[in-house]
Amino acid sequence: MSLNVGILSIQGDVQENLLSTKAAFDELGINGNITQVKTTNEIFQLDGLIIPGGESTTIGQLSLVNGSLKILKEKIENGMPVLGICAGMIMLSMTVDDRVVGKTDQPLLNILDIKLQRNSFGRQQDSFESDISMDSIGIPKFNGIFIRAPTVSDIGSDVEILSKFNGQIIAVKKGNIIGTAFHPELTTDISLHKYFVNLVNSSKN
Ligand code: GLN
Repeated sequence: MSLNVGILSIQGDVQENLLSTKAAFDELGINGNITQVKTTNEIFQLDGLIIPGGESTTIGQLSLVNGSLKILKEKIENGMPVLGICAGMIMLSMTVDDRVVGKTDQPLLNILDIKLQRNSFGRQQDSFESDISMDSIGIPKFNGIFIRAPTVSDIGSDVEILSKFNGQIIAVKKGNIIGTAFHPELTTDISLHKYFVNLVNSSKN
């Protein structure tokens, strides 16, 4: 069976996610398509989606305007696996505060019961890398790359914590929905992309 994984291509780290997902397909021996998507029609065809990091206010506003926010929400609510990276995790969340400007009234998918603090570690110049772990999904060591990253300040009772850094929640999972504050597509380690592709594959079978 051929798998159709999309990278939401409105703004952000699209090419890097295409390459990491392609490498994951190749290593897992999976056939299928990895496509850049932004229209409702393109999103409708998908078995799984990555919402890349970038700027959540831009991704939210443009996907609201082109109508894709609604179909994204429907598809994810109907079980389509999604990996939301940094701004992508912000898009999945219910409530967002910015560390500096406080509450932002930005379009969100309101799908994952988490509350986030945007830009939690500071500005672009405060970007950093650190070893993290996601033991519960079989990834004991991973290079976490944090760029204007959020932290998760509150979670619903059915949301699993995948990883913490300095006591702060930086990765979560609920069913087929995964959110990370760090950027797995910026490392050569494709283990999280492989985990996600396997999730898409098993939810299609
Ligand atoms: N700070 C950005 C936002 O709030 C996210 C940064 C990123 O995706 N690397 O949208």
